[in-house]
Amino acid sequence: MADADDVAGNLERVRAAIARAERDAGRAPGSVMLVAVSKTVPPDRLEAALAAGQRVFGENRVQEAKAKWPSVRQRFPDLRLHLIGPLQTNKAAEAVGLFDCIESLDRPKLARALAAEAQKQDRHPDIYVQVNVGREPQKAGVDPSEADALVAEARALGLNVQGLMCIPPFDDDPTPHFAALAEVAQRVGLDALSMGMSGDFEAAIAQGATHVRVGSSIFGARG
Ligand SMILES: *Cc1c(COP(=O)(O)O)cnc(C)c1O
Repeated sequence: MADADDVAGNLERVRAAIARAERDAGRAPGSVMLVAVSKTVPPDRLEAALAAGQRVFGENRVQEAKAKWPSVRQRFPDLRLHLIGPLQTNKAAEAVGLFDCIESLDRPKLARALAAEAQKQDRHPDIYVQVNVGREPQKAGVDPSEADALVAEARALGLNVQGLMCIPPFDDDPTPHFAALAEVAQRVGLDALSMGMSGDFEAAIAQGATHVRVGSSIFGARG
């Protein structure tokens, strides 16, 4: 497990591993964006990541992000925040106000709430549709058979739909799930693919990930 006291060193190692995976997959250098997953991470470690030049972060809860990031954004105007956790419809307004990218759109009702808020606030975050690639009953994400329809509906509502996101089942080989997500993206004409975490981001890059969400390999184990 990564040493929580060496965030800068961890970031360097993760960036190097991403560069290696890009090369191995014949991908262009810099084609994969690192989203540093900072849920539950205390402020001193966030500062270490910011000092090391990291600007893209992922949070899974609206309330936590609201407490942590607005003051940081004033110091780092190029900060980009991704929401990677499930979103309740009644938090759509806050999410549109806080995040530059919302990766967890998974149902029509939420699409309608986000579209109404985007219009009201005149803020248009990137939107990814989360697909439940493993069809796990307890997991967020739209069923793969309904993904195309949800993308179409979100686009029709005027949402800024850019990509797809998935979290494969914990115990499965992730590669077929990553490949399945890439196939849906190609079918519906979306370029961004958010897939791969600390344990499997290299495999995700091999399957075409454009965004990898890495937490514990940067910040250490979560308490
Ligand atoms: C926590 C989380 C991650 C990061 O997981 P690590 O294994 O710590 O890299 C990635 N994606 C989502 C959706 C998460 O909730």
